[in-house]
Amino acid sequence: MSFSKRLQTLSRSLATLRVDYLLITHLPNVRYLCGFTGSAGALLAGGPEPVFFTDGRYTMQAHQEVQGAMVRIEQKAPLAAATEWIGRKRGRTLGIEGDHLTVAAGARVRGLLPKPWRLRAVSSVVERQRMIKDSAEIELTRKAVNLGSSLFRSLVKSVRPGVAEATVAAKLQYAARVAGAEAMSFDTIVAAGPRSALPHGRASAAAIPRRGLVVLDYGVILSGYCSDMTRTVSVGRASAKERAWYTAVLEAQIAGIAAVRAGATAGEVDAAARKVLKQSGLGKHFTHSTGHGVGLEIHESPRLAAGETAVLQSGMVVTIEPGVYIPGEGGVRIEDMVLVTQSGCEVLTPTNKELITI
Ligand code: ZN
Ligand code: ZN
Repeated sequence: MSFSKRLQTLSRSLATLRVDYLLITHLPNVRYLCGFTGSAGALLAGGPEPVFFTDGRYTMQAHQEVQGAMVRIEQKAPLAAATEWIGRKRGRTLGIEGDHLTVAAGARVRGLLPKPWRLRAVSSVVERQRMIKDSAEIELTRKAVNLGSSLFRSLVKSVRPGVAEATVAAKLQYAARVAGAEAMSFDTIVAAGPRSALPHGRASAAAIPRRGLVVLDYGVILSGYCSDMTRTVSVGRASAKERAWYTAVLEAQIAGIAAVRAGATAGEVDAAARKVLKQSGLGKHFTHSTGHGVGLEIHESPRLAAGETAVLQSGMVVTIEPGVYIPGEGGVRIEDMVLVTQSGCEVLTPTNKELITI
């Protein structure tokens, strides 16, 4: 993995923004740029040499993991140490991550920074770079997606009437850890029966009913990279109405995938999926966006939502996940991860999408 290359790309963006150094504290951005996976650290990018600051707890780990930046182990908090260090350097403008640094931390940095340095909050500089995955990231994403999908068959086996949703989620999480996952990408969603109408129905103590739809949405983290997939299964034979929902959502999901290609806007992909559900009379029940970027974080840019003008580019990894939710009755969502290519996309999630009856 070429951290130096990522840092060089960032340096070019900083030059365009007229920022001499950028103080990076958002940990996924730190990890992306220099490889550090610990929970306390700050990276100064820009200037002649990037510098990574952490404290004594991470001496060994920082020396093992950090690449492309000088490592400094400090007594002080990494943020304060980095600010004092920069105060002794030449330059004028220190950028901070406006989307992440708290107001209080920003004030602390301002207080420590000597003249003539100025502070400037910048937005999403590293995040924009992270939207396009390099080949190493795509490889790690494939591995995470395949690990996630490999757990699906046993997950379905644990969905049985009378079993608590939380038990189903716990069994999945145990299997994921045993299979090598570092963690789940987010709290597993197991939403059964009328609860399947909750788009974010985290696994609860409720038992799986004797019949009804069950939305299963989960992901694993492997080498830092997240997977994300959703399938909806039916306990007992699905009613004609439930089948119609399922067919419409599947068609919408396929239409969304078909609209993905480099050059399309995020809004166009959303519109392609939404159109199918509108034509089926289910448009008003599709209450969320069509998808999102995935990588070191479960929700990254771009957002695939109505009116989004972001242009898709080769190397982006996004989800396509339309759904319908009928209050008091049930819901359906189907989600795959796809890799944007010049001519279309590659569906990364290998799991079949036919309705499974349990
Ligand atoms: Zn999901
Ligand atoms: Zn998702």
